[in-house]
Formats: sequence, C-alpha cells, structure tokens
Amino acid sequence: MKTTVVGYPRIGSHRELKFAIQKYFKNTISAEELAHTASELRHANWQTLSNAGIDEIPSGDFSYYDLTLDTAALLNIVPKRYRELNLSSLDEYFAQARGYQGENGDVKALSMKKWFNTNYHYLVTEFDDDTDVKLVGSKIFDEYQEAKDAGYQTRPTIIGPYTLIKNGRFTGQKQGTDFAAALTAAYEDVLAKLADQGAEWIQIDEPALVKDQTAADLDLFEAIYGPLLNAKHGLKVLLQTYFGDVRDSYDVLTSLDFDGIGLDFIEGAETLDIIKQHGFPADKILYAGVINGKNIWKAHYQDKLNLINQITDVADQVALSTSCSLLHVPYTLANEPQLDEKYKKYLAFAEEKLSELVDLKKILAGDTALLDANETLFNTPRYVENEAITKQVASLKESDFHRQPSFEERAKIQKEEFNLPKLPTTTIGSFPQTREVKRNRAKFKKGEITKEQYDQFNKDQIKECIEFQEKIGIDVLVHGEFERNDMVEYFGEKLDGFLFTSNAWVQSYGTRCVKPPIIWGDVSRNQPITVAESVYAQSLTDKPVKGMLTGPVTILNWSFPREDLPLKESTYQIALAIQAEVLDLEKHGIKIIQIDEAALRENLPLRQSDWYSKYLDWAIPAFRLVHSKVEPSTQIHTHMCYSEFGDIIDAIDDMDADVISFEASRADLTLLDTLQEDKFKTHVGPGVYDIHSPRVPSEDEIKTTIEKIVNKIPLDNIWINPDCGLKTRGNKETTPSLIHLVDATKEVRREL
Ligand code: GLN
Ligand code: ZN
Repeated sequence: MKTTVVGYPRIGSHRELKFAIQKYFKNTISAEELAHTASELRHANWQTLSNAGIDEIPSGDFSYYDLTLDTAALLNIVPKRYRELNLSSLDEYFAQARGYQGENGDVKALSMKKWFNTNYHYLVTEFDDDTDVKLVGSKIFDEYQEAKDAGYQTRPTIIGPYTLIKNGRFTGQKQGTDFAAALTAAYEDVLAKLADQGAEWIQIDEPALVKDQTAADLDLFEAIYGPLLNAKHGLKVLLQTYFGDVRDSYDVLTSLDFDGIGLDFIEGAETLDIIKQHGFPADKILYAGVINGKNIWKAHYQDKLNLINQITDVADQVALSTSCSLLHVPYTLANEPQLDEKYKKYLAFAEEKLSELVDLKKILAGDTALLDANETLFNTPRYVENEAITKQVASLKESDFHRQPSFEERAKIQKEEFNLPKLPTTTIGSFPQTREVKRNRAKFKKGEITKEQYDQFNKDQIKECIEFQEKIGIDVLVHGEFERNDMVEYFGEKLDGFLFTSNAWVQSYGTRCVKPPIIWGDVSRNQPITVAESVYAQSLTDKPVKGMLTGPVTILNWSFPREDLPLKESTYQIALAIQAEVLDLEKHGIKIIQIDEAALRENLPLRQSDWYSKYLDWAIPAFRLVHSKVEPSTQIHTHMCYSEFGDIIDAIDDMDADVISFEASRADLTLLDTLQEDKFKTHVGPGVYDIHSPRVPSEDEIKTTIEKIVNKIPLDNIWINPDCGLKTRGNKETTPSLIHLVDATKEVRREL
C-alpha cells in the first residue's frame, strides 16, 4: 500500500518564507533572493517527505501567497486593473494579493475569503466578461521540473476548475458555466504539458464538491471533466476532495475516467458509508484520507486499522493519505524543545503525521510492536480534568443564556449613558504591533527585562495610543492590545487548560501565521486577564475605552480542540471563563466591552442543512452566555472578520450584542442590503477600509463608503470603523488612514 499526502506546509518551519516575502515587500531583498529562499523551502519539503518514506510526493503545493491565486495567474485570470499597473509578473501577483499603491497606480487587493471550514484564507478569483482563460503561466511546470531535477518524481497539484468557478466571483454578465469550456481547454493544456515533461500523475483539488451540490452543479462538473478526461495525454488524474464527504457527487466521480479519487474519512461523516453502499471501482485507486490533516493529536492506530480494513474490504486499490493538506498543521514537534515529553508523546504535527502514515503501512505489513506501543499510549489518561467546571456547565439554565432587558430597552438606556455623536467612530482594538512592541515582548520572554519594565513599556504605548486617538477625534477608544501576541494565545495563556508551543505556526493568509494553543484540559479562569490594561487606559481619558476580549467560539475555533469532549462542552467552559472577565471589567468601571467572535463562521458546517443542528444551536448561546449577566447600561460590542454572513444574519442578530463591527470593504459592501433595519436590529459598523493591505484610503474614498452605508442603514444604528484590528499594519499607513476616517465621518456629519 502506497503512502502520500494531499499537500504540505510551505511557510517554512521557522517561517522563512514569511520573512523573505516581507523583506521583498520592503525592498531589502531582490526577487531572485526571494526565489532562492522559496526554492530551498521546496527542496526541504521534498527531502522531508522522501526521508520519512512517503511513496508519492506532491509538488506545486508551494505558494508565495495562495494556491487559488497561483492557479488564476497560471490561467490568465488577472483583472484588468492589475494588468494596467504594468508591473513584473511577481509584483502583479502581489498587487492582487495585497493591493498596490505606488508609482504605477492605486488599486485595492482582490477579495479574500475563508478557505472552506479552515482559518486559511484564499484570494477570490475574479472573472469579468473580458476574462480570457488560457494557459499563460509556468509555476506548476517549473516546480515539477525543479523536483525532477533534484531526483524526485512528484505528483503536481492544482486547484481544480470546478472549485475555481464555485469559489470565484463574476463581475459581469457571464457566469461560471460560460467559462467552463475555456477552463477545460486550459486545464487540458496543463495536462498535456505535464505529460510532456514526464509527469505520471496530476492531483486536481476539488474541495467544492463537499458542499451541497445541485443538479446544475453536477452538470457543470461533468461538462468540465467529461471532455478533460478524454484528453489526459497519458497522464493519470487524481481527483482530490477534502473537508467533508462527496455524497452528492460520488456516483458522478466514480463514473468518470479518473484514475484516483481522494476521499476524506475524517471530516467526511458519510464517506465510509458511501463507499460501502456504492462500492468503489476496481480500476481506480482510492486515496484514503485516514490521517487527520487538521488536528495535532497522535493517531490511534488500532482505530485507523479498523477503518483501513473496512476500506480495503470495498476497494481493491488503496493508497494511504491525509484527510486534507497538512498546510493546516504546524511543521514539526522537533521545533518544540520546551514542550515536555509527557505532552509531546500525544501529539503529531505535519512531519510526525508522515511517520504515522509510514507506521500504518508497516503495521499493515505485520509490524505489531508499533501497534502495541501506540495502544499503551492510548490506554493512559491524558487530559487534565476540573470537576467544578464540568459541574458548572452541567447546571447551566436557560436563563443563563439570555440578557435582560430587551435590546430596544438597552439601546435607549445606552443612548443616554454615552451620549455619542451620530456615526460614532471607533477601531477594532489592536494598534500596530511595531518592531519595538515585539522587541519588548521578546526581551521579556528571554528574561532580559523585568515584568515591571515590560509592563511599563506597554503602559507608555497605551498612553501614546490614547493620546493619539483623542487628538484625532475618535469617539470610543481602545487601549491598543500591545500586551497581546495574538488574540487567542493571550487568553489561553491566562486561562487554565491550555498548552502552548513555541514554533507551531500555521499559515492564515499570505505572510500571516497563527500559533493556535492546544486545549489540554477543562478550561477555567483563576485570575483577571485584561482588567489592568483596560482600567489604566480608561484612567487616562474621559472618553469611553472599550474593554477588549476574545469570545469563546473564536478561542475554541482558533485552538486545537480536545478529541474526547464535544466542542460544545469546551466552548461553554471557555464562555464561563470569559463571562467572569466581562463581569470583572464591568465592576472596574469599563462601560463598553467588545467580545470578538472573529472566527464564528469558521466551523460552520459546509453543508447548510447542518448549520444549526451541528453548530449554531450551541455556538450562538455560548456567546450570549458570556454577556448575559451585565447591566443594561453596559454596551456589548462584537466583531467578526468576514463579510460572508448574509446567510446567517438571524443567528448573528441572535447573539444579542448591542453593536457589531465586521469586514466589509473588501467585499464591496454587498452585505449592506441584508442589514436593513427590518432584518437586523444590532447596531453595525461595517468596516470602511481594508486593513489587510498597506494601502492608505483617501478621505474622499472613505466618505463615499460612509455615504453608501448611510443610504442603506438607519443613521442611529451606524458605527464607523476600519474593518479589522490594526496589529498587522505599520503606523506609517495607520495614522493617515485613521485621520481620513475621522475627517470623512465629520464631513458626512456636517452634511446630514
Ligand atoms: N480586537 C482584535 C484586534 O483588533 C480583533 C482582531 C480580529 O478580528 N482578528 O486585533
Ligand atoms: Zn477582524
């Protein structure tokens, strides 16, 4: 039985790619130097996979920013506004990823969205009526050749045409089906060229298949793949799916001329049943995703064996693989020397997952020692339990989930309490994490400065930040979050039940990485988390300062959760901990508290029929639990990082926050229509500019955006803010951007 993986992380085991790209952006290294680093990283990956004993190694899973963007660039799908900048192809690529402002013009970045149910983000492919789909790029061929030259026969991977369409955005009259023929032809050219180069296989990723499929969707899929598979040029085609099962398309997939089909047996709730009921064609290879590509727990080999045996009962040809790309887990436990072996023995990151695949292969060939050792591990208890917390969760009552009085009553009370101007301005919380801020934290961690020195530095930052916001005229201030490395890790560190890593970075988008904590036990709060900073910031000003917390669903979704406890239980434990923090802030005079649920949508099931029953029915109550006990005059804000929630707008209103801010600028404010008063009661701050890009929006541009908002949403319900926290930005662009934001708001107020 052969082993393989769907894909491998690419940011570098010490984030080498991130740092090289950032240097390139700052012009401190050349395109050639960047290319050199990238090449080293690719070679390192191939070597790692090969050394581990993986039989089939993918290539083409490397990216400077995002694989969807790579595929669009390969196929000439580049909107005109970027072409017109006349940049090098690399700079044109980055212009699409992050916007461009310079000598050659001023354009915003492409829209960016969550990649299915992960915390990875992809750049949305934009098709317009002039889009001329054809093979123009060479990335996939270059990387195949590079591997080949280094002695690796790899399986090039590419995002498939169907997913490209389903995840794409169509700005003209033409729709997805109108591009099917051109895409088919372009992919055929890709196949032909790879075959010509000597490739044996290609992996085409079609994760869009795990969502609900309509008959029209399946027609489109067949319209593309029917002809494409008639022109394989001798290449074998692996159709790879992940993040769920393919219950709607299984019969179509097995009837088409694919040589391999990759199925997810971890998140695919029905995958095993489907193959049992429908069988699996003897002439195809089933790439069985049996190792979890998303979590970091060691696999239980006996369970895996039982699963594999059931699979091989049905399918004649099986290869062992991961459930999805390992992009979603950190590189290796070898980078965690500080982590005690008592924890490490239960964990498996990307590199360790390679060993698991190879172990399984050996066990299948008769190696019982590996199986026994694993069994011993799984027979010893691992998680730290806290009976008081489990009891507290068990005794929660319905009333614990409902804030009194009603939203409308509270709105009246708060209007009087705060007496804010129309269109109050605020920010989402963090201010730029400058080099000095990061250096201060690093010095403290290394023991080079004392806790007092560390705190004093942050206090000075808070003071400066408050003064700045007062000076430019922001209405509701924030302390700036200088003490936080990350909005989840920071809370995890102060709560019981979490475990931390030093280098376990996972790519979130482009050069942005996160280091999710691991939930290792029952979660509880035994000390204040944010009170000192908030109280200090409030002491410096008469304007309200928002307390700033991360909500329970986001803490859960951005951690690696336990495997032995339902997510709902873990989330309620976290909610009780954050509730205690909310009440503590309130007790200390903080009158506005923002509870970020940046990642609420992250674990939304990919099939709409599961949304409420499997997720929202507990995720929304978890948020309400956090703020249900505050005074009517305390104003609760929340923030979400994506604009795609028109379809769960009722659930969001049901969180019963007083105010919500969200990303909107990068999605052309299309959400505004769904936020009309009769449909949505919560007051809203649709982000008026994109902070994911270094581009500075002009005052006029922001003013136009505010006017659009004012035209759609009742004036009294609107807040004005950027679309996310500013921590990833520099002061250079943040200062003018915020000044433009405040001045544009004042202009609009004058014209009301
Ligand atoms: N309060 C957080 C910040 O400003 C929110 C970040 C986020 O939404 N990702 O950084
Ligand atoms: Zn955000």
